[in-house]
Amino acid sequence: MKAFLLSVLSICALGAAEPAKAPAVALVGRLLEASGDKAEFLIKPSRHVVVTFLDAAGKPAARGERSVVVKVDGKDLALEPKPEGFLSKEPLAAKEPAPIVVQVRTTADDKPKNFRLTLNTAICGECKRAEYACICAH
Ligand SMILES: [Zn+2]
Repeated sequence: MKAFLLSVLSICALGAAEPAKAPAVALVGRLLEASGDKAEFLIKPSRHVVVTFLDAAGKPAARGERSVVVKVDGKDLALEPKPEGFLSKEPLAAKEPAPIVVQVRTTADDKPKNFRLTLNTAICGECKRAEYACICAH
């Protein structure tokens, strides 16, 4: 925690010297984590979904053989593969809240790891993140 605060302070100090550069936000979406696999599920302002695989340090990692299925309200979302994950071809429908299931397979014949979340892009008053990615545990 102390190291984290120190790095935040040093980022602020760098920011003062270089005001044009926005501080790097490591993770703003929902973290999906199971048996060593880590991915970030993010809904962009355009409502397109981005799934980015992460390495142990939280940096984007190569997709490799991993595959993802995203079901919104029981319907498959068409996804386009990217070097480090997937991007939805269409924006999400406006209906909120809606159930989302994200299935991640490490290899094609792997059993899927299921993550359930609720489509809710309202901003949480406490952590200022979208509710689907809220970290306040309420
Ligand atoms: Zn919150």
